[in-house]
Amino acid sequence: MMMSLTRRNFMKLVAAMGASAFLSAYKGDIVRAVEAKKDYWHICWLNGAACTGCTVSFAQASNPDLVQILTEIIVGTSGLPIALPDYMETIHPASGTLAEKLKERWKAGEKGKRILVVEGAVQKPGYCVVAGKDFREHVREAAEVADAIVAVGQCATFGGIPAANPNPTGAMGLSEFLREEGIAKPVINLPLCPVNGEHVVIILSAVIMGAKIDLDEHGRPKALFGTNMHDELCPYRPLYDRGVFIEEPGNGDGCRFKIGCKGPVAFTDCPSRRWNGKTSYCVEAGAPCIACSEPGWPDKFSPFYAELPSIPSFLGLNPTTLGAGIFGATAVGIGVHAVRRKLRGEKDEQDSY
Ligand code: SF4
Ligand code: SF4
Repeated sequence: MMMSLTRRNFMKLVAAMGASAFLSAYKGDIVRAVEAKKDYWHICWLNGAACTGCTVSFAQASNPDLVQILTEIIVGTSGLPIALPDYMETIHPASGTLAEKLKERWKAGEKGKRILVVEGAVQKPGYCVVAGKDFREHVREAAEVADAIVAVGQCATFGGIPAANPNPTGAMGLSEFLREEGIAKPVINLPLCPVNGEHVVIILSAVIMGAKIDLDEHGRPKALFGTNMHDELCPYRPLYDRGVFIEEPGNGDGCRFKIGCKGPVAFTDCPSRRWNGKTSYCVEAGAPCIACSEPGWPDKFSPFYAELPSIPSFLGLNPTTLGAGIFGATAVGIGVHAVRRKLRGEKDEQDSY
């Protein structure tokens, strides 16, 4: 018999079942629980340095899908759906001055509690200006009044591609920016490139329901990012153990380790939730996992198609000062499990939301 969904067991069930199975099994309960809430949470979704892929991914959440989110799941007596942002540049019909007024009204908080969602990295002053005001100002003002803050995607969480070496615009993730600004509020980090739409739906629902969200030391919900992909979730693990590998990218019957899979150092539920209506995910599509769930991506995990033990950053070496011969010799004998242990040693419990 299925356990009934409560605020207390919400994230425990997510962790136990995986994001996709949880949403499929408990969609009706989520709808009822959210509908029973008295307060409508107002969402302001800001876009910084990014490709807008996270918005697209959110729009492709499959169960519930965006149409259901926007039309069927109504919060309390508000008449408003769960995730209809008061402000979201890419989907709301308003533009120009009218759109900015929506943002100002959200900040004024006349109507209720507020969730700030940030997509994209924050850069040095002058690189991202919206309506004549620096993105940094928009983020600072919104974060100061928000009751909950969610960073979606690798760029907003840890800086992502905009922050890659040599990072000419000084891009950084939201948590780092808020720390620099002296805004001491917890940020729920939902990395991946792009964010998974189902993760967004689950976390927005959890915030609205008042569920406790345990975070790891990188601000990621443990229920979604607390599992090592290679150890516990990957369907190719039996092949890894038997030493059956594919030698080049593509669909083949073999573990992807030799084409550079970073699954051994990636903490994420990608194999169980997959993408596009559970069709597939990176590894299943014949590519290596490139660990976009992790801080330090992409630099720390490059080159993407190199085997883990030969990646300089994991050996504590600087690739630019090493000759290939020295590097190859240094790498000999260092196994993937040692690399993973090193990473795991840095992974401790932290605060909860
Ligand atoms: S190396 Fe990658 S493909 Fe192979 S078992 Fe681990 S996670 Fe799966
Ligand atoms: S499988 Fe790896 S590369 Fe693909 S989305 Fe998940 S963490 Fe990122």
